[in-house]
Amino acid sequence: MSERRYDPTHGEWVTFATHRQDRTYKPSAAACPLCPTVPGHEPTEIPREHFDVVVFDNRFPSLSTDPPEPSVAGTDLVPVEPAYGHCEVVVFTDDHDATLASVGVARVTLLVETWARRVADLGADPGVRYVLPFENKGEAVGVTLHHPHGQIYAYPDVPPRPARELAAGRRHHERTGHCVFCDVVAAEAGGAREVVAGEHFVAAVPPWARFPYEVDIWSREHVPSLPELSADARADLARVLAKVLATCDAWFGFSTSYLLGIHAAPTDGTDRDVAHLHLEICPPHRGGGKLKYLAGSETFGGAFLTDVAPEVAAARLREAAGRAVVPA
Ligand SMILES: [Zn+2]
Ligand SMILES: [Zn+2]
Repeated sequence: MSERRYDPTHGEWVTFATHRQDRTYKPSAAACPLCPTVPGHEPTEIPREHFDVVVFDNRFPSLSTDPPEPSVAGTDLVPVEPAYGHCEVVVFTDDHDATLASVGVARVTLLVETWARRVADLGADPGVRYVLPFENKGEAVGVTLHHPHGQIYAYPDVPPRPARELAAGRRHHERTGHCVFCDVVAAEAGGAREVVAGEHFVAAVPPWARFPYEVDIWSREHVPSLPELSADARADLARVLAKVLATCDAWFGFSTSYLLGIHAAPTDGTDRDVAHLHLEICPPHRGGGKLKYLAGSETFGGAFLTDVAPEVAAARLREAAGRAVVPA
């Protein structure tokens, strides 16, 4: 079963993918499906002995280009539709024990280029309206495969959070005539919440951080999406991203779990004046071995409560950035 059902009480689609229950769950390193294939052994997902960055279709997709007919009939109240879209897996390295913070700037640059290519390709599907590259990293966020990898989802519509972001951007634009992210960059770059400054990108704990050590990376220029970045800007994004992740590891003192997502313009050409490329990196760690869980206020109120001031978090991260080692 793989289908989307509409929640008319919140105006959102929910995707059901029950076959995902059978997906590979925390295999041992020896049985890792994302490791290279060793000659004479059972082939993994990747029929190569060595590789840099590899992209392939998720074997347990939530969205697919050939979705089955829904298992129940939709109604006027609760429409149901086949879960159309794409789900891809992006493997960052053939080294099982590496992380995005450790693979080096050259590899992260190749990853940024790969993301840009996949956004362009998947976005060219007329059945797709939004492409979201993301990474779920670490046990603390429920990751089932430890080999360094991310995913790319191509949705048939704009998902709720970017849709709210674009709507807020539209209101700001109508009120001020500006892109809200351009205004945020002007206000935050070089300020008390900045963490890493690049030539084309700036990383900061946003004043509205939902997680204590959330770091967002904003394009300094108004660039709607990854494929529109210059080669220089892509390399700069890779440097800033690698530095931010190494900084988080240096601050917490261990390989940090996090959720990383990339927000950009819808791929149908709409909202390009208010869509401004940025990354959101949300570690669930609060320090001292404690985790932030999404509890009552966050889940039912949609209202995040955070117990570290963004200025304090940014100062701590800036200090850690000084000792964060980023391989070339
Ligand atoms: Zn592996
Ligand atoms: Zn902008």
